[in-house]
Amino acid sequence: MADRFFTAGPLAPGEFVLTGPDAHHLASVRRFAPGDRVTLFNGDGREYPAEVLAADRKHVSLNVMAAVEVDRELGFELVVASAVPKGDRADYLVEKLTELGTTRFVPLLTARSVVVPKSVDKFERAVIEASKQCGRNRLMRVGPPEKWDAFARRTDLPPAKLLLHTADAEPLPPLNRSGGVVFAVGPEGGFSLDEVAAGLAAGWRALSLGPRILRVETAAAAAVVWAQTYRCPS
Ligand code: SAH
Repeated sequence: MADRFFTAGPLAPGEFVLTGPDAHHLASVRRFAPGDRVTLFNGDGREYPAEVLAADRKHVSLNVMAAVEVDRELGFELVVASAVPKGDRADYLVEKLTELGTTRFVPLLTARSVVVPKSVDKFERAVIEASKQCGRNRLMRVGPPEKWDAFARRTDLPPAKLLLHTADAEPLPPLNRSGGVVFAVGPEGGFSLDEVAAGLAAGWRALSLGPRILRVETAAAAAVVWAQTYRCPS
């Protein structure tokens, strides 16, 4: 994977001046110099090979050579609505969901939630960093935080609505993912019985990932891997 740098604005072939944290990263941290080749991306589905023309600590001028469509997406909608784990484990969750192709992450507020995120800016930065590393040219969308009871009843969710639960849950069923999939992951204290009942009443299925209790971020990553590697019986 070429060295990738992100800009939030439009990109097109021609001269471009990169500013902000990625200019600093490119010039001061990675020490790229005039003549070096890098790849720019902005989340529009393309990547933009470019040559560094001049660099100081705050601005990097580049010659963008082309706009190339490169699709590293899953091909179906995959939403994870998850309670937010504590501290660094929240960044880990967002990083792994991004690497694994999740299309949207919704921080979930539940009865037993301990972490209530005040802003999703930190998560959005983690999505960009993970996308630089893993080669995604479309960003995982983030937030805003939603309360489980309201989220469970939303009518705009993908048809496969799967609630991960440790008790009284069925093993993973055959999955039709073509219309999209949404997983709900509870906090370290688990979903309350009322919350599970509300989910079931709203058409969710309660599913088990096996007999061990997984951390929030492990359960979310395992579910996302299963959804994309599962082979429908032919
Ligand atoms: N004490 C809680 C554990 C919660 S683990 C309990 O017994 O329910 C945090 C979340 O991860 C859970 O709410 C669930 O969404 C998910 N999870 C963890 N292990 C799981 C498993 N084996 N199967 C399905 N979901 C799991």
